[in-house]
Amino acid sequence: MKIAIYPGSFDPITLGHLNIIKRAALCFDKLIVCVMVNSQKNGLFTPEERVELIRRVVAKLPNILLAEYAKQRRARVIVKGLRAVSDFEAEVQMSVINRKLNPNVDTMFLPSHEKYTYLSSTVVKEMVRYGVELSDFLPREIIQDVKKKTEESRRDG
Ligand code: ADP
Repeated sequence: MKIAIYPGSFDPITLGHLNIIKRAALCFDKLIVCVMVNSQKNGLFTPEERVELIRRVVAKLPNILLAEYAKQRRARVIVKGLRAVSDFEAEVQMSVINRKLNPNVDTMFLPSHEKYTYLSSTVVKEMVRYGVELSDFLPREIIQDVKKKTEESRRDG
């Protein structure tokens, strides 16, 4: 069984992430989408909420599993999306470190779909604030949640 893991912050999941998930899912028997907690990034959504949003978006895809931490023991491959050369350096460095930590795990890079090379969760969060139409950037199932959460965090903070 070929299992891969796709880690990220997914705060929130964008159409760029979803495109990588769908393409990677075709290459492996199982794809584990793993929400990583980054102590240096202040999230809009909690890790549990991010998992919930992803769950809704991938509900119809048969071979996706979700996790809040890296279940790397059975996964031999880490999938990463590459948007631009700017992603490349940090991602290659990370892949070398990961391989050092676990020689059984390798990293595979998928180039971003050309429609999404500019897209990041950070850009989306910025656009929500300006009231931009979001259907080109976010899966439609979660647009309302992102708007609502942005509104709440604006009010609270
Ligand atoms: P970001 O917060 O920048 O959107 P994440 O940490 O959530 O990034 O991203 C997780 C993984 O998804 C990384 O491998 C990243 O390069 C990839 N990724 C993010 N956005 C895109 C996109 N638009 N197209 C392709 N890959 C992407």
